[in-house]
Amino acid sequence: MNRLQHSSDGLALGKDQMHRLLDALKEYGELIGPVHDGQWLRMQTFSKYEELCLKGISWFTSKEYFFPQRQVLFQFDGHSLTRQEEFPKRVLFGLRLCDLNAIAVNDKLFLEQEPQHREYKGYREGLTLVGLWCDEVQDKYCFCSSMELEHFYDICLYDRGDYYHIKAGSEKGQEILEKLQLLPNGPYEKEFPTGEMKLSTKDIAKFFDKNQVWQKGAKECLSCGDCTTLCPTCMCFDVQDEVEVDLTKGFRIQKWDSCMYKDFTLVAGGHVYRNTRLNRFKHRIYHKLVYFPQKFERYMCTGCGRCIRGCPTKIDWIGLVNEMEGETQ
Ligand code: SF4
Ligand code: SF4
Repeated sequence: MNRLQHSSDGLALGKDQMHRLLDALKEYGELIGPVHDGQWLRMQTFSKYEELCLKGISWFTSKEYFFPQRQVLFQFDGHSLTRQEEFPKRVLFGLRLCDLNAIAVNDKLFLEQEPQHREYKGYREGLTLVGLWCDEVQDKYCFCSSMELEHFYDICLYDRGDYYHIKAGSEKGQEILEKLQLLPNGPYEKEFPTGEMKLSTKDIAKFFDKNQVWQKGAKECLSCGDCTTLCPTCMCFDVQDEVEVDLTKGFRIQKWDSCMYKDFTLVAGGHVYRNTRLNRFKHRIYHKLVYFPQKFERYMCTGCGRCIRGCPTKIDWIGLVNEMEGETQ
């Protein structure tokens, strides 16, 4: 994505004219947006603006569209190897800034260092990103204003009642908007919305030995992995070979994995490096706030709140970090 300098200037498009934007976007791929399926709000294929549910945050992330849960890396038939050569073109519409930044996080690991991840690159190059700015936090679990998010999108929509203020954030976004010939709408900027949940510090390296507090979270943890499945920046995977019994054919598969599972760090000989729930629980938070920024100079958490919203025991790790920070004051 060739990004543009951020500007608050934009264009205006009436909500009754959204079909014009969607028609233009269809040239960039299949439209995927937040649709309520009766049970879940999730990113799904849609064709009309009226099908979208633009209130609330999708329960599941959009990561399955650029980092599928199951990815064939290659298949072999005894004579040759074949790999996926074609990747879909898709428009992810209505992504919140937390989920847009999550894609920037994935880019850091999979694209911005060598070797690039071949399949991730294929999916990612086919994506067009259309953001929807949050005027207010979506629920009590959002804490994006604590996480230093950036303007990262091809296009971003700001709801102004009966119309959207629209900005381009990349050359591709600018190209799409030029085709629509919209009216200029001057400058318009919105602060990040702030809710009840706030992270009082991200400098948690100093809390490594505060195990009594970490244990409050760990003892509620079921090691179910929901937090990592729902997290838009969790990208741990396992690689397995699935081979026919006569060894003539098979696949090499990449599958989502989770650092919350005990066998994630199981190595030959039966040793498990993170054998306790306490170690695994702490590791997940340290990866987001300490280890990833040490390597990539940005936080791995974007404050979407899914890891708490979707946790069956609602473990509030933000509250635990705030408690430890309070004790150090
Ligand atoms: S979702 Fe909650 S219970 Fe499940 S592994 Fe994550 S922290 Fe533990
Ligand atoms: S760690 Fe939790 S709040 Fe942060 S990006 Fe992942 S799911 Fe969202």
